[in-house]
This record gives sequence, structure tokens and C-alpha cells, in this order.
Amino acid sequence: MINTPDPAREMHRDPGQILHSVFGFEHFRPLQRQVVEQVMGGGDALVLMPTGGGKSLCYQIPAIARPGTGIIVSPLIALMNDQVAALVQSGVNAACLHSGLEAGEARAIEQALVEGELDLLYVAPERLLTPRMRDLLQRVRPALFAIDEAHCVSQWGHDFRPEYLQLAVLGRDWPEVPRLALTATADPRTREEILERLDMPRAERFISSFDRPNIRYRVAEKRNAKQQLKNFLEREQGGNAGIVYCLSRRKVDDMAAWLRDQGWQALPYHAGLSAEERRRNQERFVGGDGVIVVATIAFGMGIDKPDVRFVAHMDLPRSLEAYYQETGRAGRDGLPADAWMVYGLQDVITLRQMIEGSGADPERQRVERQKLEDMLAFCEQLNCRRQILLAHFGEQDHPACGNCDTCLEPPESWDATEAARKALSCVWRTGQRFGVSHLVSVLQGTDSERIRELGHHHLSTWGIGDDMGTGEWRAIFRQLVARGLLTVDAEGYGSLRLTEACRPVLRGEQSLTLRRDRKPARTGRRQRQPGEGLMDGASHALWEALRECRRRLAAEQGLPPYMIFHDSTLMDMVAARPETHEALAAINGVGEHKLQRYGDDFLEAIRSVVTS
Ligand code: ADP
Ligand code: ZN
Repeated sequence: MINTPDPAREMHRDPGQILHSVFGFEHFRPLQRQVVEQVMGGGDALVLMPTGGGKSLCYQIPAIARPGTGIIVSPLIALMNDQVAALVQSGVNAACLHSGLEAGEARAIEQALVEGELDLLYVAPERLLTPRMRDLLQRVRPALFAIDEAHCVSQWGHDFRPEYLQLAVLGRDWPEVPRLALTATADPRTREEILERLDMPRAERFISSFDRPNIRYRVAEKRNAKQQLKNFLEREQGGNAGIVYCLSRRKVDDMAAWLRDQGWQALPYHAGLSAEERRRNQERFVGGDGVIVVATIAFGMGIDKPDVRFVAHMDLPRSLEAYYQETGRAGRDGLPADAWMVYGLQDVITLRQMIEGSGADPERQRVERQKLEDMLAFCEQLNCRRQILLAHFGEQDHPACGNCDTCLEPPESWDATEAARKALSCVWRTGQRFGVSHLVSVLQGTDSERIRELGHHHLSTWGIGDDMGTGEWRAIFRQLVARGLLTVDAEGYGSLRLTEACRPVLRGEQSLTLRRDRKPARTGRRQRQPGEGLMDGASHALWEALRECRRRLAAEQGLPPYMIFHDSTLMDMVAARPETHEALAAINGVGEHKLQRYGDDFLEAIRSVVTS
């Protein structure tokens, strides 16, 4: 897709002006201005921002502002297409070259490139390095090179792409052209590796906080997972788009079918489906309104949907890195979003068994176990969850956030020393061969055939815990595992064994404070949807009318609705009720091109509701 050159283009070469007139944004976000200035001045930049932080503008604006064409290296065709479609919507001359194009299409784009019609060209790395492409680039003036998802050069990461290693030649072939390397991967080792492998020794580093303040983190004990999810969706997410992660394909299929039975638009996504079905489901998710995808972790990479309102984990992720990456897919648009999870002891057992059965070398297994332990510690937190997450990624001293479950409803803690000693000695007396259900039966003094068969009714720990309920005991065992006082025997059927760390507690030398599980909330909560707080009846009617207008315009062009305007832009319209083009232009997200193209439609929608 190529627009005809815009004569006004020559006029707006100032970055601040471009931000305003092309993208319709009022202010740069933190660091965007500094990066743009660095690149405008011809310097290189390493840009680390969390997902949704606004990396794209860092190269899009200098690419438009500087003479010549900005060359963007991107590893995923879907992402390239997405970015180009969004830019074209804003009236920018952008195109992409990748293996998914017909020969004729590709030639037309190359032609446009040579004729200097393009502000931005997205290319796959392997394509950029072909002699043909390098020859073309010698004939044009690259405005800059932006290497997106730059962590793909890291051989240690899971997204390694060998072609990325060769991108170091760009600096040699075009020493005067500024380069940007951009990523959302936080790890300091990867950072240095990127600069080294891309040969960018003089790059300035722009590293923003990894906090995603609009995401609300919550973790609850798994009781009846389906019902818990249903409550969450009904009470808080009516009609919102989201992702539900499950560990296995079977569970994904089951959960998707169940949600559909319950009346939700839910689609499965996992590696066992045909490529065609996966593509269709992903498209419906991206292009639709309020679609829920139930997926294994395979889903999400390369999806830029800004209005994912929630990410739900039905099983424990295997590391905080995975958790942060997956939850990071919510709320890219900056509006309130939820990261919601339920977990139980069985998750720990399953993951331990997967690590043990993986056949990986012992060192690798040790690392994996440590990652799982960090994840568990996060789940059993008594303090702010965001503090733990950010500290894990190297940001210490973050204040308590006020937007996670432990901040909003501080968990009760209690002195569990006595109870823990009972639990631990019960593990010991029964020979460290039993799982949590049996252990709880013994503690509660259950008189069953099995207990008699095993002779466990003669043990000194039989019945010493009959003052507490099954749920309470299970919570204790779960936390003892999370704290590393007990370990799950991966080979058996989840039998629990003592660790060295439990000795001081058993001997009474150390006290233990645990978290009290919350009773499941019975009261219905208010729905949390975009626009919460500003929606009285009239506003709601306007919101719906604007969404309908957006849906229609999107459908006419076969685009996802958010490409026309984001939710946040529609919400600003609801609040400001613009009646003129001028007033509409002042809304965040309304640039000149969209104003011309869609202004009348949206003004008409506003008029129809406001005056009726
Ligand atoms: P990233 O690539 O870092 O994940 P994007 O570049 O896709 O993030 O930006 C995330 C969202 O934030 C996009 O919807 C974008 O339009 C919006 N955005 C970026 N910069 C600004 C800004 N200065 N003002 C308003 N919205 C912005
Ligand atoms: Zn918090």
C-alpha cells in the first residue's frame, strides 16, 4: 500500500510538529523525545522500553523528518503488515518487503523506494542482506536503520535469529546513517550483547522503567478454576477482549469449548491446530470486538493488538519472565487492564515433574527449578506484587503501587509456626511418601479404611490438626512448598519431602509467618471497562455510537477497528463531545489525515446522539 506523495510533506519536518499533525498526539512519552533528538542528530541509540511503551514513534518520527527513507528491520511479517497499515491510516508513505508478497507487488514497492516516495520501508532481515536489496539501498538515501526486536541477535535468548547477526554490516556499509536497536527485553546481559553483535559501540542507551502501571496484578488460590474465571469475566470483563493461558492443549480445547457454552466468544489457539485454523482464530481475535483467545504459551508473539483488556493464567507460568511477557500483552493502549491468575499446589507438582522429566542437563534443571521458586515466591507475596516483579528485573525501590491485589486488599498474615511444625512432622512420620490429601486426612484424624490399612491412625500426628479445615491445611502445605521447606517428589505422585531448610522450624528455633487465604468474594464487583467512571447513560450511548461508526469504517477497509482510532481516542471524544473539525483535531490520536478522512463520520455520529 502506497499513498501518493503528499505535497505538505516537505513542510512538516520538525519532530514535534510531526507528532502532532501526523499522529495527533499532544506530548512525547518519557524518553521518546530524547531518542528522537539523538537520531535526528545522526547518533545511534539502544532503546529499551516495555511493551506498549511507544518504541515505534522513536524511529517513525525521525524517519519521516529526515531526508530519505527509514529502513526498519522486523522479524515478523504480521507485525510489519500491522505497522504499515497503521502508518498508511495516518497518511504516512510506508510499505514493507517480505516473502509474503507477489513478485509484482514487491517490484512496485522497490520502484517507489528508488523514486524516493517512501518515508518508511519495513524489511525482513534476510531480505535486507540480499545483494539486490543492498544495491537498491545504494541508490537511495537511508534516513536511518531501525532494528526492531533487537534481542533476536542474542544466541542465549529464545528468539534467536541467525540473520540478525549479519546486521552488523549496516554500520560498515553506511557509517553516516544513524541506527536504532529496539527491544522490550530487560536482561542487562542481553543489552550488552545487542550492542556488541550489532557493532554499535557509540550508541547511547535509553532505558525506561519496565513498569506497566495500568496493569493490575492479581493472584488467587485455585479452588474451582472454571467458576473463578467465569466470575472474573462476568463481574469485570463483560465484552472485553482477552487471553486465557492454559498449560496443555487439551485444557485449552476444553476451556474454549466451555466458555463458548457459557456464551462467550472464545477461540482456541495451540500448536495442535492446523496453520489455517490458527491464522483464522488469530485474525478474529485481532480484528474482532471482545473475542477471547484460550491459548498455550505459543500465542501472543507478534500480536500488536492494543486493546487486550485482560490476560488470565489458569496455570502457573514457569518463570517470572514468562509471566511478565504474557501479562504484558494486556493494555498496550495504556488503559486499565488486568493480569489475573489462579494457582494451586497441583501446578507446582506438574511443573516440577515437567522439569524433572525434561531430560535437560542437571545445571539447566537447577536453573529451571530456581525460576519456578521465584514464581512461587511472587504468588505467595505479602507485599506489593509490582515491587517484586520490578525488583526481579533490576528496578529496586519501587514504591508500593496501589494497583495490585496485595496493595488493594492487604492479605492477612498469621503466626503459623505451630501449624507448620505439625504439618512437617506429619510428613516425617508418614515416611515422606504421601501427597497433600493424605497428609491432611492424617492431621485431621480421619478414620478411613486406607488410614487403618497403613496404620496411620497410630501415629502421634494423627488428629493433631482437627481444629483446622481442609482448605486451611492445603494452604499451609502449598506455602511450605513455596517457601522451600517442603519439596515435591517429581517421580512419585506428588509426595512431599522435607528439605534442609525446614530443620529450624521443626526444632522450634524459627517462627514462620504465612498468608491467610482469602475467602472467595461473594459480592459482585462493578465492571471495569474502558470508559469506567465517565459513563453515565448519555455518554454510554455516545460511546456505543462511536464504536459502531468505527466498526463500520474498519469493516469497509477490512481493518481491525483500533486502526481507525484507539479506545482512548473514542473516550476522549465522549468526554469532549467535539462538534467541529477544529475541536475534533484537538483530540489525542486524531492526526490531520484521519481528521480529513473520518472527521465527518465521527462528527455525524456525535451529532446524532447529542442532539437526539
Ligand atoms: P511498543 O512498540 O513499545 O510496544 P508502540 O510503539 O506500539 O509500543 O506504542 C504503544 C501505543 O502507544 C500505540 O498505540 C501508540 O499509538 C501509543 N503511543 C505511543 N507514543 C505515544 C504518545 N507520545 N502519545 C500518545 N500515544 C502514544
Ligand atoms: Zn502493589
